[in-house]
Amino acid sequence: MTGSICVLAEQWRGRISEPTYEVLALGRETADSLGVPLTAILTGSGARDLAQTLGIADTVLYVCHPQLAEPIPQPCAQALAQALANRAPRALLVPLTNISLGIATLLSIRLGAAAINFCTDIKVVDGRLQAVCVMYGGKIEATVEAAGSPAILGIWPGVRPADKGRAERSPAIEEITVELEDSPVRLKRYIDPEAGDVDLTRQDVLVAVGRGIQSRDNLPVAEELAKALGGAVAGSRPVIDQGWLPLSRQIGKSGLTVKPKLYVALGISGAPEHVEGMKDSALIVAVNSDPRAPIFNVAHYGIVADVMETLPSLTAAIEARKVAAHHAP
Ligand code: FAD
Repeated sequence: MTGSICVLAEQWRGRISEPTYEVLALGRETADSLGVPLTAILTGSGARDLAQTLGIADTVLYVCHPQLAEPIPQPCAQALAQALANRAPRALLVPLTNISLGIATLLSIRLGAAAINFCTDIKVVDGRLQAVCVMYGGKIEATVEAAGSPAILGIWPGVRPADKGRAERSPAIEEITVELEDSPVRLKRYIDPEAGDVDLTRQDVLVAVGRGIQSRDNLPVAEELAKALGGAVAGSRPVIDQGWLPLSRQIGKSGLTVKPKLYVALGISGAPEHVEGMKDSALIVAVNSDPRAPIFNVAHYGIVADVMETLPSLTAAIEARKVAAHHAP
């Protein structure tokens, strides 16, 4: 696999994560542009069957050890360092999730490899790999080339549709055994969040408020809009951290992932950690007073305006439409 493009496949609670397939899609494109094979690397214990689902890769390296049953960064990084040491891939693409960020960081230290995070794309220019990545919460875009290989590239969720990273065919699977030291970290149990008052993942319409709503006292205006649209109110993390809404309403990396038919983002900047949880919504409408807010990069419709000035007229317009539709012959 010398010179190949390699993708870290995340397995968690018996499943391959969705971001893995997104990254595999980007990996396939990159490998094809370079004319090299695509390898997926999976760590686990008794998880060989999961390797079968990674058929878009030419080969899957399945690194197997009892300590790899859960994706704990320390043993995973140690195992990957051993597996990759003599295989010299050109780049290792890693889904930028809470799980893999820890693994990639420790792995880059073990391999002495350059790690570039928040990559939104990879370009092949004259045979060289260039990572396009975002900085400062998405406000600045940089093109970065790693010195040496493998380059460890943390790929932002949503860069390609997950379905493009799936394939029916069965990949060649190579099983690798590793020797691991005792891990200082052990997973004791998973704690599932308590069920919230409303299951936001089942709502067709979400009206999400961010710090731009400015005060808890302004929440009723967003609730009015949600009511007019027949949806529920959600929030970005600062809104939850300030106690304006319960944790069960948080959207994003450390909250819920939602895919409603309509997502209205009010005074939300569009930080990667928020976008991760709502980017797959069918229709995204954003209201923000800053025309350069990154939320406009994912929104289908954008309104550059003060949220408190816009909301009442938006709600009134929707109510008026509903009344007109009710009286239509
Ligand atoms: P800000 O970034 O402060 O944005 C406020 C926006 O409101 C700005 O764009 C501004 O232009 C606009 N605005 C201000 N006044 C008005 C007005 N009057 N009218 C219209 N617009 C206005 N964040 C999450 O949301 N969910 C998560 O799950 C999450 N998990 C995280 C996990 C980790 C490990 C880390 C490090 C961070 C996480 N974050 C999460 C935080 C994330 O990085 C951002 O800080 C957060 O999303 C910002 O929230 P915001 O957009 O409401 O606030």
